[in-house]
Amino acid sequence: MIGPSPPLPHQSNTTATRHQLTHNQLVNFLRDEIGKAETSTTAVLIMKLKRAKRLDTIIGDTSTPSTIDYIDQRLDSLLREPDRYAHFFDEQICFVLPGLANNAQSILAAIKILSELHKPFIAADYPVLLRPYIGIANFPELGRDAGQLLMYADIASDIAATNEQGYHVYQPEDLIDIDTYSGLDIELGKAIKANELHVHYQPQVNIQTGSCVSIEALVRWTAPGQRVIDPSTLISIAENAGLINTLTLWILNTALRHTATFLKAGIDIGISVNLPPKMLEDKELPQIVQQALDIWGVPASNLTLEITESLIIGDYESSLAMLSRLRELGIRLSIDDFGTGYSSLAYIKHFPVQELKIDILFVRNIHKSHRDKHLVHTIIDLAKNFDLTTVAEGVEDQETSDLLRDLGCDLVQGFLYSHALSDTDFINWYRQRT
Ligand code: C2E
Ligand code: CA
Ligand code: CA
Repeated sequence: MIGPSPPLPHQSNTTATRHQLTHNQLVNFLRDEIGKAETSTTAVLIMKLKRAKRLDTIIGDTSTPSTIDYIDQRLDSLLREPDRYAHFFDEQICFVLPGLANNAQSILAAIKILSELHKPFIAADYPVLLRPYIGIANFPELGRDAGQLLMYADIASDIAATNEQGYHVYQPEDLIDIDTYSGLDIELGKAIKANELHVHYQPQVNIQTGSCVSIEALVRWTAPGQRVIDPSTLISIAENAGLINTLTLWILNTALRHTATFLKAGIDIGISVNLPPKMLEDKELPQIVQQALDIWGVPASNLTLEITESLIIGDYESSLAMLSRLRELGIRLSIDDFGTGYSSLAYIKHFPVQELKIDILFVRNIHKSHRDKHLVHTIIDLAKNFDLTTVAEGVEDQETSDLLRDLGCDLVQGFLYSHALSDTDFINWYRQRT
């Protein structure tokens, strides 16, 4: 939660902009505003950025303005005179927007900020894309307590992280949602032991031939009370509860067990398994993977591990060492969500990876947005230069698929072909196609 956290001084190359305050100043500003007569709405917005800090680590060139400096510049020209903001942490910005005519105006402000920051910018010769999302809490609707307004905006921002539009206005029901998740860690521990989770498989199709060459394992969990838990939430619960190793091991083994069945049934496919960020720190990982392959008798070359960029960038040297050890097993490595930390183009050649998965965020809009099309094209060309396979995820319509084929993409995955299917449904789906 944000309220009680100590302010972290933000190191910046440039001087603060006219709208920028320190953490404490902003909280005092908010208190002053909500202490005034309630004639207008004051909105508290908390914006979080996925991976801004890491981008700077990769760019690693202190002579160029940092991502944060760039954001400050953009915000300065965007905000109204009375608006104020502060950096709470490197990847978190809090805004106080006083004197709004109504609650709807706080949404408009959020949309304005999001669309401005979605425009790519160039840092150290590479285009950088940000993925901001915003939680909104409005005064007087939600009471007069500054700490609580900040907390509500923070909760709303977590919800915004997973929705389409990238913003969310806090509603009292949201607190109930948060409550729903408490206690789930204990349930999850039990569910893993009792084999109550499921792994589903989403086909990856060769864009030239239309045949299914591999599948991605995606975990599914219906918690007690028929509560379907979003897989990303499930992974965070597991990480926070110290269950991530157990869960990953369970998913890996289940996926390989099913793959062995598919191979025996004459379905010759590769299997991709997601590796959560924390797993690369586990020195035992190569042995664990080797054991699982041995147990189920799946050839190493049929297994691909999907890792996100953030995972690699965390600690360059040790990640590189771990990836090399994994690669020595003969398995394939794929970079998931590629494009969301775009400057990775600069370092990708140093890693022993065989595949790039282009993030759904860019794939979704390639026939509408010239910029996204250009970006996807650049990624595909780059991948070709380094002999990497490209997989586009989130392909929902034929038009997108056709365009991806024209751009030279290798594999496609998305609802156009199939949702993730249970092992038996996958066998039926596969047989019907061939
Ligand atoms: P991801 O690895 O990027 O997985 C792709 C997500 O996109 C999946 O969501 C998939 O169902 C969804 N998707 C596929 N095609 C389409 C499409 O055409 N349109 C749209 N809108 N979505 C599509 P899912 O299963 O909800 O998983 C979300 C995220 O949760 C995954 O993102 C991954 O980060 C994580 N996750 C899921 N299963 C696992 C797992 O077994 N292990 C780990 N570590 N993470 C997992
Ligand atoms: Ca994935
Ligand atoms: Ca993805």
